[in-house]
Amino acid sequence: MPPLLAVFACALFAQTPTVQVLRFAKVWTATNAPVMENAAIVLEGNRIARVEKDSGKYATGSTVIDLRRYAAIPGMIDAHTHITYFWDGAAGTNPRRQPRRHPAVAVILAAENAKRTLQTGVTTVRDLNASAGNDYALRDLIEMGKIVGPRIVAAGAGIGARPAPPGVEGMRKMVEERLAAGSDVIKLFASTGGFEDVTGKQTLSYEEMRAAVDAAHAAGKRIAIHTYGPAGFRDAVKAGPDSIEHGADVDDSTLREMARKRIWFVPTIDHNRFYIDAAAEFQFAAGSAEGLTSYIARNLDTARRAHAAGVKFAMGSDAVYSMFGQNTRELEWLVKAGLTNEEALLAATSHGAELLGMQDRIGKLAPGFLADIVAVEGEPWKDVRAAINGIRWVMKDGKAVSGTASR
Ligand SMILES: [Zn+2]
Repeated sequence: MPPLLAVFACALFAQTPTVQVLRFAKVWTATNAPVMENAAIVLEGNRIARVEKDSGKYATGSTVIDLRRYAAIPGMIDAHTHITYFWDGAAGTNPRRQPRRHPAVAVILAAENAKRTLQTGVTTVRDLNASAGNDYALRDLIEMGKIVGPRIVAAGAGIGARPAPPGVEGMRKMVEERLAAGSDVIKLFASTGGFEDVTGKQTLSYEEMRAAVDAAHAAGKRIAIHTYGPAGFRDAVKAGPDSIEHGADVDDSTLREMARKRIWFVPTIDHNRFYIDAAAEFQFAAGSAEGLTSYIARNLDTARRAHAAGVKFAMGSDAVYSMFGQNTRELEWLVKAGLTNEEALLAATSHGAELLGMQDRIGKLAPGFLADIVAVEGEPWKDVRAAINGIRWVMKDGKAVSGTASR
């Protein structure tokens, strides 16, 4: 083709993106619009052009996908994962005692977690700690289309007090280093706690947290603080991050302050349920279930009082290893914490998008948004269990990535 003609052909092609029409029984858009019945979601390329009454008549050349047995919800957002932590269940190993692996191998293995995450209807994750830049690599390979998985907002390595407390200057430097290395978001570990350990002893000072918050915000980035216990939580609220993860035994005045400062809460209640269920595969010491059970009750109580105080919630699983595929079980805990079914679903869609600063492109089924669309059996806005057990088909960025539909 002569060069001029080639340019012309490209321009023509760019102006006529592929049109796909998705037919649904019901569409829950995560906007203020009521649930639409017998609706069609019309896509142009990887974006939603419109949501309309299904007329049964479509433009010539459009691909029509029949999902009329299902309801549509936006692709969900898991605001707290560790997607590069992989375990294959090999004999003689447990998730935390595995052979040392080259980072390239770890990234390729993590593709399995990515696939299982998509199967739950989660199309975006915020990943809050990984070693060796494995999360950056997985994020970039998914973005390039070389690995099928959710969009990843990556923190790289979380910053904590090991090997030594960083101090204010050290903290500022570490935040800047993470951002230069490729982190989209900053993660701090401000207390002990993780796996079967639920101690929650504060490990970073208020001054260190504040230095990290200021450095991240000065660079236009967001920051999440992990704290299991109340002292670290109080100082985290004072420091003013974008979200606080975990949390138990937090007093009401701290929760009111959190609501006033519009700090998101990602309580990750379900991950300790997972640790109880998976205690044998992790080979936790006998009696670990007692501490975990007690923490769940106090974590849930804090979440309840936070909701009553007006704190905003995002859904985060804290999924690791074999928990991928269970990413959305947190939804049921959010309902136990007092959110309505619809509020819980918002925590996993448009509110999660707000926490990530991506509210203009994900988390809603609306014109201009990326085509992240999940077909569900049931009505999850009335009963979130449908979003946990009823996922039948998943589209991310305009491409079907899980399940089957008829054309
Ligand atoms: Zn975590």
